[in-house]
Amino acid sequence: IPGQIMTMPLTATSIFRHAMRAHPEAEIVWRNSDMSIDRHTFADMGRRTQQLAHALTELGVGPGDRVATLAWNNAQHLELYYALACIGAICHTINPRLHPDQIAFIVNDAEDTHLFFDTTFAPLIDAVSGRCPTVQGWYSLTGPDRVPEMKTEVIDYESLIADKPVVFDWPEIDENAAMALCYTSGTTGNPKGVLYSHRGTVLHAMGVSGGDWLALSSRDATLPVVPMFHACAWGIPYAALMNGSKLVLPGPGMDPAPLQELMDGEEVTMISGVPTVWLGLYEYLDRRGEKLKTVKRAMMGGSAAPLSLIEKIEKDHGTEVVHGWGMTELSPVGSLAVLKRGEDKLPIDERLQIKTKQGRALYGVEMRIVNDEDERLPHDGQASGMLQVRGHWVASSYWGGAGADAFTEDGWFSTGDVAAIDEKGYLRLTDRTKDVIKSGGEWISSIDLENIAMSHPDVLEAACIAAKHRKWDERPLIVAVKREGSDVTREDVLALYDGQIAKWWTPDDVVFQAELPHTATGKVSKLHLREQYAD
Ligand code: ADP
Repeated sequence: IPGQIMTMPLTATSIFRHAMRAHPEAEIVWRNSDMSIDRHTFADMGRRTQQLAHALTELGVGPGDRVATLAWNNAQHLELYYALACIGAICHTINPRLHPDQIAFIVNDAEDTHLFFDTTFAPLIDAVSGRCPTVQGWYSLTGPDRVPEMKTEVIDYESLIADKPVVFDWPEIDENAAMALCYTSGTTGNPKGVLYSHRGTVLHAMGVSGGDWLALSSRDATLPVVPMFHACAWGIPYAALMNGSKLVLPGPGMDPAPLQELMDGEEVTMISGVPTVWLGLYEYLDRRGEKLKTVKRAMMGGSAAPLSLIEKIEKDHGTEVVHGWGMTELSPVGSLAVLKRGEDKLPIDERLQIKTKQGRALYGVEMRIVNDEDERLPHDGQASGMLQVRGHWVASSYWGGAGADAFTEDGWFSTGDVAAIDEKGYLRLTDRTKDVIKSGGEWISSIDLENIAMSHPDVLEAACIAAKHRKWDERPLIVAVKREGSDVTREDVLALYDGQIAKWWTPDDVVFQAELPHTATGKVSKLHLREQYAD
């Protein structure tokens, strides 16, 4: 018999309405493309979002239409997130750091009908606008006075929404309808689109904000450095409105100095981003002998957080690190390394060891590991295999049916990550399948070897890749970046491995570079390193 409880659809509109009712006074602060800082309240954002909804509707944007953004983390981008979702359309966030060819491919693949961009990306728009026949209009996220000189015919955002009514009668939306589209970075071919549903997005936002996880509240001010074009900034734009948390958006100011200014000035309590960003920020703070004044929690994921970085942030800066694992296909958070009762009383070094793992699966995500024959492996912390997941916010297919082989017949998604899971449920990633090092038929974990290299105080960043070997097929090679002015040698780094791993795992060589190449989402680009060093 059916339960006697109301069924209200889980939609972005329900988050929006709640934010307006419960937290109209909460603040949104953002940096514009010219680096100036602006602020307003959730109530202001709400009025502007409804004006935008009117403007979009007048443009003919309706349910299911894709509208693209090439934008930083700022107020207008947030308004687009909600206005599009709440009218039933789809906000297609595009990573502006991709190659113009890839951007044109993505716009055409999604058949976007309109595109909104920050002025930083004006040259990019001029480079692709002629190649995107489905796009009917291009809009700069500025007022009429700041539209850049461009080849493309452009309408400015402020004029578009000005004079529109500040109340919009939102339509009823099916919770399973699509509301956002984000492409994976496509390191191994053309990028694939992941189409987020209202329901998945709401459940994900509730999931990540939960007490055991980010514990996001109306007493927090949260600053996502992770871009809103990268898997919806890990769901923070939804979780913040849901919980009435002040939202601080860094715009293009992702360097240490502007970040520190915003974090201190806005009394930010929680930050989130990829390890590379935190490496830069904390290195900068240490050089100046400074600390962030109010940050309590630093969330990091997207690539493995090195122990040395977690240690620095926790021990020297007194900030709690929350290391997590996720993927665009998971909306994107799958697991977070938050300590359980009892573990929080362990000596600090043991606690930090736990935090180098990728964490425990959130409610809403199930995990399993399988071998090459698709047999399930035990969760004993030892066995390692292909990680597969399923859950309330996990993709069930890709846009246009691409990449179908990632979805198993029994309803799981194959992540392409190699991992072990221990008895307590902690996930430990050893590699991405495409980065795996196979030496003499056995796997070597590049993440473990990178962690050891970065434990040297003078090694800022390190990546481990497979170099071809006549006898062993592949052998590990470390490519590292030295701290400025340091004379650390290859021998110093190799000596670190002694006694920490099986002897045959020891890298064959260490080479130093001034910096490592990074992908469009700020991760070390092993593809580039392999092209350079594999031979
Ligand atoms: P891309 O890296 O291709 O831009 P995603 O952002 O979706 O796309 O990346 C997901 C991948 O990032 C995961 O499959 C995993 O390989 C890697 N990753 C994410 N979080 C972590 C982590 N905490 N440790 C190690 N790898 C991670």
